[in-house]
Amino acid sequence: MRLVELEIARHDWGGMLCGCGGSAQHLARDLLRLADGDPGQEPGHVDLEEHVWSAAVLWEPAPAVASVALAALADDVPPAARERYLDLLQCLVAGEGTDGESARRGLDLPELCRGLARQGLWLLYGEVMSNRFPGTVGAAFEILTVVEPDRARLQRVREVAADWLPVCCRTGLCDEDLPGLDR
Ligand SMILES: [Zn+2]
Ligand SMILES: [Zn+2]
Repeated sequence: MRLVELEIARHDWGGMLCGCGGSAQHLARDLLRLADGDPGQEPGHVDLEEHVWSAAVLWEPAPAVASVALAALADDVPPAARERYLDLLQCLVAGEGTDGESARRGLDLPELCRGLARQGLWLLYGEVMSNRFPGTVGAAFEILTVVEPDRARLQRVREVAADWLPVCCRTGLCDEDLPGLDR
């Protein structure tokens, strides 16, 4: 069993309320499809907007999904799947609010997701520095601009990786657009 499958299997999806109003059980299947794709299809024809995240809020499954995305990064999933998982993680760390039900239970879902991404700091730096997959470098760096408390370290990597970072990351243009740490 691969790391990403192991992490998907670890969570009680059926016990969580999805943004679509139903049980989050379907996310287990969606996240697997995101890792592999259907046969003959590219991975990632799965849109979790309005299920896990939206422009306004994150829903209960968001932290579990963030964990799965980090497990996928540590795993040997195809480049297109890494890209999809990183995009998903970026939507989660950029989250601004928590759905009403979770908020009543005292949860701050965006902050939980940022905390998880912070635990995966070196995975994200590894993705940036290895420059193995051009499509993932920008997303990994932009997640770091939100969650990295050590701004000097981030700045150092920005300089060292300047040759292959997208121009928005190199110039710091994308930092301002993302909520998160005080700067
Ligand atoms: Zn749903
Ligand atoms: Zn950027």
